[in-house]
Amino acid sequence: SGETMPTSINPATGETIEEFAAHTDADIERTLANADLAFRDWRKTSFARRAEVLMRAADQMDTRKTELARIATMEMGKRLKEAEAEVGKCANALRFYAENAEKFVADDVRDGPAGRNFVTYLPIGPVLAVMPWNFPYWQCMRFAAPAIMAGNVGILKHASNVSQCALEIERIFLDADAPQGVFQTLLISSSKVEVILKDSRVRAATLTGSEGAGSAVASTAGSEIKKTVLELGGSDPFIVMPSADIAKAVEVGVTARMQNNGQSCIAAKRFIVHEDVYEDYLGRYTEAVEAIKLGDPMADDTGMGPLAMKAGVDDLKDQIDRSVSAGAKLVTGGPAPEGPGYFFQPSILADVPESAPAYREELFGPCAIMFKVKSIDEAIDLANDSDFGLGGSAWTTEPAEQERFIRELDQGGTHINRMTASDQRLPFGGVKRSGYGRELAHEGMLEFMNVKTVTID
Ligand code: NAP
Repeated sequence: SGETMPTSINPATGETIEEFAAHTDADIERTLANADLAFRDWRKTSFARRAEVLMRAADQMDTRKTELARIATMEMGKRLKEAEAEVGKCANALRFYAENAEKFVADDVRDGPAGRNFVTYLPIGPVLAVMPWNFPYWQCMRFAAPAIMAGNVGILKHASNVSQCALEIERIFLDADAPQGVFQTLLISSSKVEVILKDSRVRAATLTGSEGAGSAVASTAGSEIKKTVLELGGSDPFIVMPSADIAKAVEVGVTARMQNNGQSCIAAKRFIVHEDVYEDYLGRYTEAVEAIKLGDPMADDTGMGPLAMKAGVDDLKDQIDRSVSAGAKLVTGGPAPEGPGYFFQPSILADVPESAPAYREELFGPCAIMFKVKSIDEAIDLANDSDFGLGGSAWTTEPAEQERFIRELDQGGTHINRMTASDQRLPFGGVKRSGYGRELAHEGMLEFMNVKTVTID
């Protein structure tokens, strides 16, 4: 709810780690003033100067990798190894933009009516970033790195359960010698977002999170004629055709669903399997899921940690219960036995009818949904029968089938014989209710820039 205090709870134990005093209205005003002031200077800095900051931030993330990873694991429960990988991925993205940003936005000479015609790219000002807890460093850094290289400045409103991560990100930029105001964190409830977004000093917003949050922020931004980028939910299909390498499609399919304790926007959520290989696939998939060891996310031999919040457990249980009532079959899993922490057994639902919640809703936790189809046409129709269109994975060695998936699936990314994953070198984003705009690569950098046309006679 809007008015809760930012609080960090260890989801593996349910114990409160820290309660934070929310920033006051006076703090918000000071932050906006700092951002406004910082932008006036930062927009004039060279790419070399900006790159120095990002390179130092990257070095710090590498040097402090385990320490930062432990903070994320404590606050939101992802396995320590996955948290370390996330920190490393941030360092890569920071370096990528430090090295490539200048090239991405170099002046572009065009044919035109004047003696000289060119396009130049200018920063637009302070950008508000509203971010989720599931990749608490990555989601922020994939916004911050291109924004800072562009000459913009950032204000972060992070999810209320990951305030330590939020403060660490601010500290990383300050320690990297970014001038005060270039990247600031506000610990505030979501109810404060509207007034910040309406402030004339804030030029645009990016939000990663649920449809409800995205819709609220985009509505406010729309009323103020401010641009937004929205990275929202997904219910990505993972299609398995008869020619697929089934063993690999099982192994990768389990990771694609269960990574990050099942809480990823681009997790494979709907497995759409051809009838010729369905029984085999489901059998092997079930065996692999049942072998996952639930436990302490800090421990090396743990296969899955807790969900980040108690509400996540309750919501997933409710979606599964309602789906079973509608006729779906729970092949394996369900909530973990009573005990401390927000654990959930990795689960599989099969025989899901169209009327079941699992058919249409996003399951933001470790539950795979299995569908059996008779043909590629049916696979494509089922995959597209979703309000979401984030990413998707299709497994086939037949070139004609690959081509059809690439051309006919309505999603921001289609990955053949691989799981969906973001990479700083390639654009990332969705269509339909998964949002709009792109992050990463040069597309991500241009979102918050003024594409200025210049003509000179
Ligand atoms: P969430 O509840 O929407 O929260 C995301 C952020 O939005 C938080 O900072 C939250 O603040 C804020 N927020 C919530 N309601 C708001 C409102 N009405 N106005 C302004 N801000 C608001 O989402 P979540 O539960 O953390 O994340 C899960 C969802 O995010 C899933 O749907 C997942 O698929 C999606 N996701 C998408 C991507 C992507 O790249 N497409 C990546 C990761 C996650 P508080 O914490 O203070 O409420």
